[in-house]
This record gives sequence, C-alpha cells and structure tokens, in this order.
Amino acid sequence: MPAKITHYEIHDVRFPTSLSGDGTDAMNTECDYSSAYVSLFADNGLVGHGMTFTIGRGNEIVCQAMAELSKRLIGKDPESLFSSMGAAWDYMCADPQLRWIGPEKGVVHIAAGAVNNALWDMFARSRNKPLWKLVVDMTPEELVSATAFRYITDALTKEEALAMLKAKEATKAAREAHVREVGYPAYVTSAGWLGYSDEKVARLTKEAVAAGFNHFKMKVGADAASDLRRGQIIRSIIDDPQYLPPGSKGRDPNSPALLGKNAGPTGAVLMIDANQVWDVPQAIEYVKSLEPIKPWFIEEPTAPDDILGHAAVRKALKPYGIGVATGEHAHNRMVFKQLLQAEAIDVCQIDSCRLAGVSEVLSVLLMAAKFGIPVCPHAGGVGLCEYVIHLSLIDYIAVSGTMERNVLEFVDHLHEHFLYPCSINSNGRYNVPSNPAEGYSIEMHKNSIAEYEWPNGSYWISAKGGSK
Ligand SMILES: [Mg+2]
Repeated sequence: MPAKITHYEIHDVRFPTSLSGDGTDAMNTECDYSSAYVSLFADNGLVGHGMTFTIGRGNEIVCQAMAELSKRLIGKDPESLFSSMGAAWDYMCADPQLRWIGPEKGVVHIAAGAVNNALWDMFARSRNKPLWKLVVDMTPEELVSATAFRYITDALTKEEALAMLKAKEATKAAREAHVREVGYPAYVTSAGWLGYSDEKVARLTKEAVAAGFNHFKMKVGADAASDLRRGQIIRSIIDDPQYLPPGSKGRDPNSPALLGKNAGPTGAVLMIDANQVWDVPQAIEYVKSLEPIKPWFIEEPTAPDDILGHAAVRKALKPYGIGVATGEHAHNRMVFKQLLQAEAIDVCQIDSCRLAGVSEVLSVLLMAAKFGIPVCPHAGGVGLCEYVIHLSLIDYIAVSGTMERNVLEFVDHLHEHFLYPCSINSNGRYNVPSNPAEGYSIEMHKNSIAEYEWPNGSYWISAKGGSK
C-alpha cells in the first residue's frame, strides 16, 4: 500500500519585534515578524515543515488559506508527488475555486509558498539530505520536471533549461566542494534600519565590518538629508581600513567580483533600499541626490508590480552608475520574467515564500541565469535566512555556476527559534547547511511556537496582563 499524507497542523506565530525597531523601513514601520507555519504528516512517519513570512496582522488570513491548500494534499502518496514536483506544484495551485482569489498572487500565493515548501522539506527529509543537496543531486531532467514552467516558455523553454543545466553538470561537484569550504557570500541589513539612532547605526556597522562583511545595506526613503547623513556615517566606517578585522587588508575594489558595484577603497559595497515608497520620477530624483554615498543599487524604488517603472528608473540612473534591484514583493515568476525581458533590473531578489515555494523559485533561477542577472535573495524577517541559503546553493552549484558577484542577505534576528539555524563564518559568509536531517532548515522549536503562538501563546497572554 502506498503511503498517504494524512493531516496537517498550522500555527500562527508572531514575534513582538515592533518593540525594538528591528525591521523598520520607509514603508514598514511597526513589524511584528510572523510565521504562518504548516506541518504535513504522512502515515509512514514522514513529516514536512514549511512557513511563509508576514509582518503581523493578517497572518491568520494566510493560515486559513494554507489550510485550504493543505487539504488538497490529504490522501496523496508523497512518492508520487515527489516524482514530479512541477506537476505537484501545478496541482496544488490549480484548485478551481481557490484560484479565483489569486490567481498566483496575494494571500493565496504566499500560502501556497508555505505548503509547497513543506512538501519539499518532506521530500528532502525522506532522502536524508538538506534541501539544496536533494536538488543539486537531481539530473537536469529531474530538476526541470520539479520546476513550475507554465506561462514562462516565451522566455525560457524546457529544452533551453535542460541544455543550460547539462552544460553545468560536469562541474557541479567541484563547485559543491568549493562552497562547502569557503561558504556563500552574504551581506548585512541589520545595521541600517530606519528606526535606529545614528549611534546605533555606527556601532552596528563597525561590528559588521569586524565580523568580516563587506556588503552593507541601509534603508532610505523617509528623509533625503537624513539618508545622506546616515549613508555618510556608514561609508566613513566601511571605507576606513582601521575597522577591518585584524590582519585583513580588505578587498581589491577592482576585482571582478566588485566591478560595477561602486566599491570603496577597502572593497566595501553599500546598497540602499526604499521598500517601494516612491513614484517613478520621485525615485529618480531622490536616488540621484544620494549619489555621493555611491550605492551599488537602489532596491524596490517603486511599486513592486511596476515593471516598466523599474525599467525607467534603471535607465535614468545608469549615467550615475547606480543599478536597480527588486523582487522581494514580486509575486510570481511572470513578474520576474517581465522584469528580465524589459531589462528593468541589475539584481534579481527572489523571496523564498512570496514565490510559491521551491518549484517556482527554480523557474526564476533558470530565467535569471539565462538573462545573465545575478540572484541575490531577499532574507531577514523570520525563517527567511534559514530558507535562502539553500536556494543560493542550488543557484551556484546547479544553475548559474557563479557566486562571487552574488550576495545573500543576512539579518541576525530570531534564528534561535529554529532547530537548524543558519550561521555565518568568520569571513562574513553563510555556512553550508549539512545536517542530513534538516531538510529545508525551517523546523521551529515546539516551545517557540507555544510561547509566541497568536493570540494565546504564553508570551502574548503575559503581554496582555495574563488574561485570555
Ligand atoms: Mg528590501
């Protein structure tokens, strides 16, 4: 008798991050980092965990959508779903009634991200491999069959994807060995939240430089004069060799990995992020005014759905040597397809659970590789760093074959709630997840769930003065 998925559990978990100013930017001013968390169970003992990220209110709506999508998997044989994760993805997203409240966008799509990721976690655990290893060990044919391909074949056909993957196949093992040894390049955002004082920004920046990082991001968009001042504080630290870790001379700003990034004398790179606050002409003028702090790119200058707007911003900023990045709010692969086709971005910032899970992420990794645009995933929040290291490893080892121009976002918040937290080495790079039991690294500690479950977890009860 084949095994069956028998049931699911869903938890609405919210962390009170609004109390500390963590995660504040020009658009998101009071975030309670939250996880809409799902576990799938099969009668042969297999379990898969997944989540999507929100910033508080509304998390319960996502949980409800996740329950509806999880019901579609009840009674299914996990092995038959694993045999073509692309087909499983199509099936999950194609409920004839739920589709109406998307399709493939908004609550129902980020809910699909959690459920698809839980299925991938179950798949990886069933093979005793971390998720990235499961995927890079696939043949090119298996990987293409695991990918969501509908609606993108005008930009990338399955045959092209297969040829790209085959061209990288023989050298996968060498890349895997290399990245296991050196880690995957990372950057920090935690120093530059808008809610932090100048002193806190300076202290956190010094700490990040000392920890080996050389790419830094700050939030902008509330006030140009203040952004310029904060940017100058950060640049004055990251460009000054005295703050480098002992024995380090920094990096050569003319090295190929740093070309076009406006690296300073120690090889440090600054990026800026506006979280969608501007109209297109305003974005262009505002970012021009920040030219003195020499950013590599402006992230999310305008509405995330405005593909041609991003293309206009990119064109206008090109003479200033400032690029455009976006993607954390790009809600499906078709938006990425058009951003690439319209030459609207220099950097592609996928999100691990706004896209509907690993199968849809694979389609974007493949398209970005074809268009020659580096993928630098969005992370931070809660759980996102745990997820994205897997995706960047897949990109490097099996898909694009490059990583030294890429940087993966790292924010040092809330990792303690996970059984297999991500970690950073002494050179400011992500370590490679290597526990065969960790799947997609997203399993949360049971006591964290019990403490922060909304609204009746022990933290929230005590925050309300002890009454339910
Ligand atoms: Mg951002």
